[in-house]
Amino acid sequence: MYQDKASPRGEISVSVVGAGVAGSWHALLFARAGFAVTLYERDTTAMTLATSHWAGGMLAPHCEAEDSEPVIPRLGVRSLDLWREALPETPFNGSLVVSHPRDRNDFDRFARLAPEHRRLGAEDIAQLEPSLDGRFREGLFFPTEGHVEPRRVLPQLHRQITASGATIRFESEREPHDLARDTGGIVIDCRGLAARDAFPDLRPVRGEMVIVETDEVKLSRPVRLIHPRWPLYIIPRDDNRFMIGATSIESGDRGVSVRSALELLSAAYAVHSAFGEARILEIGAGLRPALPDNLPRIAIDDKRISVNGLYRHGFLLAPALAELTLNYVRRGEIDNEVMQCS
Ligand SMILES: Cc1cc2nc3c(=O)[nH]c(=O)nc-3n(C[C@H](O)[C@H](O)[C@H](O)COP(=O)(O)OP(=O)(O)OC[C@H]3O[C@@H](n4cnc5c(N)ncnc54)[C@H](O)[C@@H]3O)c2cc1C
Repeated sequence: MYQDKASPRGEISVSVVGAGVAGSWHALLFARAGFAVTLYERDTTAMTLATSHWAGGMLAPHCEAEDSEPVIPRLGVRSLDLWREALPETPFNGSLVVSHPRDRNDFDRFARLAPEHRRLGAEDIAQLEPSLDGRFREGLFFPTEGHVEPRRVLPQLHRQITASGATIRFESEREPHDLARDTGGIVIDCRGLAARDAFPDLRPVRGEMVIVETDEVKLSRPVRLIHPRWPLYIIPRDDNRFMIGATSIESGDRGVSVRSALELLSAAYAVHSAFGEARILEIGAGLRPALPDNLPRIAIDDKRISVNGLYRHGFLLAPALAELTLNYVRRGEIDNEVMQCS
């Protein structure tokens, strides 16, 4: 417990290991709270080793309620506020869920399990997303949700971290227990899948995605297509680019299968036939760090705090998890749903 040491800048050092979305948010909130923070990352600034590099970046706590424990929307809703505060330009245009008539039962199930929506008819959908005019008879609109582009937002967070007085060391692979010994300060381990020594039951869940480019479709928000196997979605990026994601496969192999590529591209084509003429810019996969219950965990062992298991929800949950860690360090507050003390 560190509450009596929570102090102005410089009195207690905090080392954060891993500059993915979890580590970046921890470094940011601790630096802003006045701690002397150093963030260590083994990768270059390109960050292609991070799962965060491959993510969709949807901030969708209400949609995720369809397939998650209540702790995910609870923390996710808090994260929306923290994203807004840190990056006010984050688009909060909501999320749209659509389905084809054959998937009607799954659509109704989604509506039942994710209740924070407005039901839309064909005209409402066309008003919201003119490119989808005449393509879907019904939709669900989740108006308060947002999205970020991970490959742009990570560098933005890193700039804010240094502007808050912290140091970031890229190409600097460090082991949390060595740092704890060498610095005598608090160490926050956000190594994602590389932290299997701290979480022996951590496993990779592959998420495959495709990035395409077309100027024939315009979308203002993520569009989810109800699909019997995976939550498939299309997320608009700048410069007429779209990310199509994502599969969810129990595997640590980063390769993309033909079957997955076919399913992702067919899903996009089913949302709008103009995707048939889009240029494929990239096909890739990231490995989501998941614990057996697919829920996040903050494990506290003296001055070493390990944050992991962000699974499908790293961008959604990282700000709220960082806030919980900070509240623990400052005031000893324990969140029983995600924290584990040894
Ligand atoms: C295709 C796909 C789509 C997704 N879409 C979404 C989405 O829409 N919304 C959402 O909320 N989530 C999404 N996710 C999930 C999200 O990407 C993850 O939950 C999140 O990236 C996990 O973040 P992390 O910081 O824990 O791990 P990582 O991003 O992997 O970061 C860990 C970092 O630690 C570094 N590291 C490891 N060991 C060391 C060491 N010894 N020293 C220094 N550095 C080290 C690594 O290089 C890495 O940069 C998606 C994931 C995938 C794959």
